[in-house]
Amino acid sequence: MQTEKQLIFDLTQAELEGWLSVQGEKGFRAQQIMVGLYQNRVGDIGEFSTLPKPLREKLAVHFDFSGLIPVKTLQSQSGQTHKTLFKLVDGCLIEAVLMLYDERRTVCISTQSGCGLDCSFCATGQMGLSRNLSNGEIVAQVIHYARQLDLNNERITNIVFMGMGEPFHNYKNVMLAISSLNDPRRFGLSARRMTISTVGVVPKIKAFADANTQVNLAVSLHTVDDDLRSQLMSINRKYPVSDLLRACRYYVGKTNRRITFEYALIDGVNDSEEAASALVQRIKGMLCHVNLIPLNPTQKFVRQGSHAKKVRAFADVLESNQISCTIRLRRGIEIGAGCGQLAAEA
Ligand code: SAH
Repeated sequence: MQTEKQLIFDLTQAELEGWLSVQGEKGFRAQQIMVGLYQNRVGDIGEFSTLPKPLREKLAVHFDFSGLIPVKTLQSQSGQTHKTLFKLVDGCLIEAVLMLYDERRTVCISTQSGCGLDCSFCATGQMGLSRNLSNGEIVAQVIHYARQLDLNNERITNIVFMGMGEPFHNYKNVMLAISSLNDPRRFGLSARRMTISTVGVVPKIKAFADANTQVNLAVSLHTVDDDLRSQLMSINRKYPVSDLLRACRYYVGKTNRRITFEYALIDGVNDSEEAASALVQRIKGMLCHVNLIPLNPTQKFVRQGSHAKKVRAFADVLESNQISCTIRLRRGIEIGAGCGQLAAEA
C-alpha cells in the first residue's frame, strides 16, 4: 500500500495547510509538522509527540514519511566517503553520497533515477533514464544523511546536486527541493552552500539566472572544441559551446555570481596545453572558476584519466592566465562514488 500514499516531503507548507483544513484540523499544525520533519527529523509518525494521536493516525494513513529505502551502503577505505543505494517506492534505484572531508559534511544527491543524457564517459549516462525524482524524493536523500549525522551531533554543511541525472531536465522539482532545503522554517541550509551542476541546458541556465537564487552553478564543460564536445556529449549538438558560454555570461551578468566550469581531464583527449589555451581564450574575463577532475574510470569508457603531471601543466596554463582553478582530489573511487561513477547496480 506504500505506493498509494503521498510522500510528505512533496508537500509545501501551503499544501499541507490545505490538507489539514480539509481534515478539519488547525492550520498551525502545518508548521509543527514541518519542524518535526525537517528540523527534529522524526523518522516515525509515532515520534511526533507535539501532535494529538488522532491527527498522527490520519497522517500515517495518508502519507509516506520516508520515500526511499536504503538498500546498500559502501564506505571508502578512509571512511570519509559513504555511498548509499536507495530503492524508491516504485522500485527505481538511485545513489547518493555523503562526504566527510575536514570540517565539511557534503551530500551529493540525485535528481533523476538514471540519466537521459549520453555523456560517453559517465556511468549514469551509460545506464539510461528511468524517471525524474519528485521534489520530496530529492529532499528525502538529504534528510536520510542528516539523520545519520544527527547521531554524532553533526550537521550537513553543503549539498551538491551532482548525483545521478540532469538537474535541469527536472527543473521544477529541483527548484521546489531547493526551496524546502533553504527555507529557514524547514531544513534551513543557506543557498550559498548548495551547488547545481548542469551538462549545459541553455534555456534552463537562463531561467536559473532569472530565478536569482544564491545557489551556485557549475557547468560540465570538459572541452571548448565543438567537434570533440559533440562526440563526448551529444547535448552539444543542441547547445554548442558558443551558445553555452553566452548563457554562462548571461548568468554571471544577471547574478554577479562566479560560475564554475567542470573539466574532466581525459588522457590524450582534452588535456593538452593547447586545449588549456583554447579554454583560456573562451572564458577569459568571465567571473569563473575551473574545477579540474582527472577522469574517473567507468565500465564502458576505455580512456583513462590524465596523469598528475599533465593535470598540473593544464592548471599552470590557466593560472598563468589569471583563471582560478582547483584540482579535484579523487576520493571514493574504489567504491564507485566518484564523479560520473554513480550507476545503481543493485
Ligand atoms: N548531469 C549533470 C549533473 C551530474 S554532475 C552534469 O552533467 O553536470 C557529475 C559530474 O561528473 C559532471 O560534471 C560530469 O560531467 C562529471 N563526470 C561524469 N563522468 C565522469 C568521470 N568518469 N570522471 C570524472 N567526472 C565525470
